[in-house]
Amino acid sequence: MVVPVFLPHLGCAGRCIYCHQGYITDAGDAGIQTRIDAAFAGRTEPCDVGLFGGNIFGIAPDVLARIFSFFEPYRTLIRTFRLSTKPVPLRDETIALLKKNGVGLIELGIPTFNHTILAALNRAHTGEDLFRAYGRLKNEGFTLALQFMVGLPGETEADIDETIRNMVLLQPAYIRIYPLVVLENTPLYSLYRSGTFVPADFDDVLDRACRIYVNAVQNGIGVANVGLTDNELVRDMIAGGFYHPAYGFLVQSRIFIKAIEEVLPQFGSPAEITVIIHKNDVPLLVGHKRENIRRLAARGIAVSWDVSGKERGKFAIMSGAKIVAGCASIA
Ligand code: SF4
Repeated sequence: MVVPVFLPHLGCAGRCIYCHQGYITDAGDAGIQTRIDAAFAGRTEPCDVGLFGGNIFGIAPDVLARIFSFFEPYRTLIRTFRLSTKPVPLRDETIALLKKNGVGLIELGIPTFNHTILAALNRAHTGEDLFRAYGRLKNEGFTLALQFMVGLPGETEADIDETIRNMVLLQPAYIRIYPLVVLENTPLYSLYRSGTFVPADFDDVLDRACRIYVNAVQNGIGVANVGLTDNELVRDMIAGGFYHPAYGFLVQSRIFIKAIEEVLPQFGSPAEITVIIHKNDVPLLVGHKRENIRRLAARGIAVSWDVSGKERGKFAIMSGAKIVAGCASIA
């Protein structure tokens, strides 16, 4: 169980052009303490605490120390802290504070390793900063995860290749993938409204998320939720981009159908197939609003399924007397 504590824009020296953390503006001490007390009200079971929103590394060490002090009444319940942050600024004092207060896991945000795009996003850090922070924090004993984005202005397939290469090199405990969302009252929104930023095709961006996801799974890297949760954005501010309430499902079901399609050529041009799958994978085979079924139907293939499969992700396709096994890289 993770108790989330939201610190909106705390420690953000400047705003990333796509970011707007909702309407909560009370990020002063009293507001933070009140939210912490509310999060622990009536809690008796041990828990982890997640600090998110803002840039934790950007919070002045004395302020961060004060925030940790607000957790003192609940110390006996807190197993560990986890947090998400930009990789800068990397301060010795901050690292010491995190260790002293029992932070175990740090998620580092690196939307892309393309420096030009990072600068255009006003991230105010580079890929080298990420590598520097990653190496230092790893040596200090923290468990590390990475947060990537897809659908960024100017993003190419080569940028996704670079993200995948660096992810495999760094071997984080897990990753998160966020599709870019255009929120009102952000600089990105102005670019979008003026036509300076024209989002790429939704399907192409979904494929990019799938590529990162598959490569993570195939390299033993976990994948935490894909897409934005309702904690992370205010729905009525969405003006465009790649938001979908079931984005993670879209990614997994796209991966599933592509894995099936890789096996299909071994059957020539079958009119009918039966897919043997784990029962929990049926929705992934069918797809969002049956889009995978329609996709196969468009190729003249009727699909049925048999849920005697034992392992998630593993499947076998049967057509006539022939059976071929396959595997979809879903976490
Ligand atoms: S994305 Fe993170 S670092 Fe950038 S403005 Fe938003 S909270 Fe701050």
